Amino acid sequence: MDKDIQSHDIDARARLNAVLNTSIYAIVCINSRGIIDLFNLAAEKMFGYSADEVIGKNINVLMPEPYATEHDQYIARYETTGEKKIIGTMREIIAKHKSGEVFPIELEVNETKINGQSMYTGFIRDLRRKARSELQAEQFQNYLKQIVEARTRDLTEANKKLEELVRIDGLTNIANRRCFDEVLENEIRRTYRNNSAISLIMCDIDHFKQYNDHYGHVGGDQCLQKVAACFKETFKRSTDLPARYGGEEFAVILPETPLEGARVVAGKLGQRLDDLQLPHANSNTADHVTLSIGIAAAIPTQGFTGRELIKMADKALYEAKAKGRNRIEVINCNS
Ligand code: GH3
Ligand code: MG
Ligand code: MG
Repeated sequence: MDKDIQSHDIDARARLNAVLNTSIYAIVCINSRGIIDLFNLAAEKMFGYSADEVIGKNINVLMPEPYATEHDQYIARYETTGEKKIIGTMREIIAKHKSGEVFPIELEVNETKINGQSMYTGFIRDLRRKARSELQAEQFQNYLKQIVEARTRDLTEANKKLEELVRIDGLTNIANRRCFDEVLENEIRRTYRNNSAISLIMCDIDHFKQYNDHYGHVGGDQCLQKVAACFKETFKRSTDLPARYGGEEFAVILPETPLEGARVVAGKLGQRLDDLQLPHANSNTADHVTLSIGIAAAIPTQGFTGRELIKMADKALYEAKAKGRNRIEVINCNS
């Protein structure tokens, strides 16, 4: 009978050990003075100590400062006042490995009394993996954010290029008609607000049909490129906008420029083209490529539009053609 009880005790202890040592929780028991008297296999793995190394030592070897120092006082206070902060609750705290490394744990402490003596059992879960996966999630979020940002940057770049493409004439590389129309309306509004003058120069290559007939369409295209380069070189103020208006017609918006100023700079343009002496064997006007130029200038009044300014510049251009080409005619819209 005695033997039976003994073997039953042995079985129970073996069962208890099996439970303790297969638990995924680290289980650490301490007495009322904070001295460790049980340290299971999971605790050995988690803290790096063998049970033999820590049994009989104060639990505070498993804690970093300042918790290590505070812990003795905490137990003493609990024993005398019954004030509990940890008992029966689950909390996340910092623990210390044998190596000195600190790491987050989740701790639940329960109290049991054996022969009137308090014993405290701590169930501990390592939160490093959780912290790591949270960190990974955060890193992944950052990574996604970076991808989205890079993609947005690419799209903005592409849009900018696309915008340039639709605002720049493919053949001559200067502003196209669409860009011209937009800028003209804006500049007229701005000029009106500033109560200043704006000029518009309209140019048309003389006898360009004959040029094409003589030099071919490819030759005609090259000529247009050379003429466009003259515009680019002549109108250098950042606010000046030379544009290909259509076919062999060019236009220049000159904000903050009164008629006389526009006439001077248009004269320079004509001169520059003359200097180039681009041969035009089929012209009735000269032996080289020439331009007829019409200028309209205005100090815009309320409701004045780009269309009106274009109409007047066109009218001046028509006069230049009519009077023999290769010349400049001007119209002041305010007189
Ligand atoms: P005017 O002196 O009265 O201006 O005579 P013009 O021959 O220049 O005028 P017209 O408007 O009769 O002819 C313009 C010609 O410009 C028609 C076309 O052959 C040529 N042209 C228009 N656009 C282009 C282009 O993109 N490339 C080439 N090569 N030629 C063009
Ligand atoms: Mg024309
Ligand atoms: Mg022409």
